Amino acid sequence: MSEKDLEQTIDTRCVQAGYTPGDGEPRQIPIVQSTTFKYDTSEHMGQLFDLEASGYFYTRLQNPTNDAVAAKICALEGGAAGMLTSSGQAANFFALFNICEAGSHIVASSAIYGGTYNLIAHTMAKMGVESTFVSPTATAEELEAAFRPNTRAVFGETIANPALDVLDIERFAQAAHAHGVPLIVDNTFATPVFCRPFEWGADIVTHSTTKYMDGHGAGVGGAIVDSGNFDWMAHAEKFPGLTTPDESYHGIVYAEKFGQAGAFITKATSQLMRDLGSIQSPQNAFYLNLGLESLHVRMPQHFKNGLAVAEFLEKSDKVVSVRFPHLEGDPYYELAQKYLPEGGSGVVSFELAGGRAAAEKFMAALRLAAIETHVADARTCCLHPASSTHRQMTDEELAAAGISPAMVRFSCGLEGTEDLIADIEQALAAI
Ligand SMILES: *Cc1c(COP(=O)(O)O)cnc(C)c1O
Repeated sequence: MSEKDLEQTIDTRCVQAGYTPGDGEPRQIPIVQSTTFKYDTSEHMGQLFDLEASGYFYTRLQNPTNDAVAAKICALEGGAAGMLTSSGQAANFFALFNICEAGSHIVASSAIYGGTYNLIAHTMAKMGVESTFVSPTATAEELEAAFRPNTRAVFGETIANPALDVLDIERFAQAAHAHGVPLIVDNTFATPVFCRPFEWGADIVTHSTTKYMDGHGAGVGGAIVDSGNFDWMAHAEKFPGLTTPDESYHGIVYAEKFGQAGAFITKATSQLMRDLGSIQSPQNAFYLNLGLESLHVRMPQHFKNGLAVAEFLEKSDKVVSVRFPHLEGDPYYELAQKYLPEGGSGVVSFELAGGRAAAEKFMAALRLAAIETHVADARTCCLHPASSTHRQMTDEELAAAGISPAMVRFSCGLEGTEDLIADIEQALAAI
């Protein structure tokens, strides 16, 4: 990222960062739909394989379209280096596995996306990586108690999907740094338009670009951005993958050769992407960039609709409770004011009076809001977890998971506010 990018407003970065065409070159980022790249000599290509020269040789490792879009996301977060992945799941796995291995331990907020919970608690556990989950508002003492000598990373989400809890980023960063490990924050729901976790001490940010960044439900994707602020060499014994020779790359020491700003993303690309795949297709990266060009225009409208819907629902006697972090009285209101002063996501969750049957009637009566598992789309969508994503659970099991059978998750799109409220009003009347 150039110095110029950092001086610009987030609005200008959304539109222009990452790609500057030369004289007579395409105005829009070209889709480099090519698996491979041609070289005049084997020597030149050999330098690329040795990481001695930078350039493209195979799209599984790097592709110019993906690199331009990753550079934009990096500029939006104010980071030092970034990369795209095939999905948000791949982004979180790569970010964690780049510094964890069998025998490592992760401290994670319990308020995270279900897929990430499964990744950490089950799949990474099978790989020998242990974990401890803590409340997103854990006190310094509670956090302290979660660490072990083998802890290698702390993980949380700025605004949790679907719980809508707000992470106390500064507190988590302080705890992580006191133990010589980085804080990784999944910033999917807030987006860098509303929160830039590096400004609060986070070291690495991840995204499911599938959500607001794409914003149109067009392509699944993910991204990882490194702040370049974490000093791997100062904690060299904890991070041998970055601070000791990589035998699969002729003994390169990433933190020495690529420095604090380049080590993390270079290793994630040249080792994890090389060995595990999970590259984003250049075509999807192109669609993602179209979404990013209007992210700063769309987010305030998502948020405005979310707040209006939350305030409307709060007044209805058919609604037992509403969760929206910017609603006065929400348990996360103070943290939202601190970390998200200008707004947050457009996702609202609420519980209807009348239990599961009321929620089912409400869902069936909606006209504008579509029933989908997706969130953060231009079109409003709505989910009743008890009859869809969590339908295998009994009411007792749902209660244990913190989900009421009458809970509805409502993701406000970009439609007119009055129309969304009218749709909700008539659906409430149908109960
Ligand atoms: C959706 C989501 C993910 C997973 O992303 P995919 O792109 O679906 O793989 C991870 N984190 C959060 C916060 C999400 O909302």
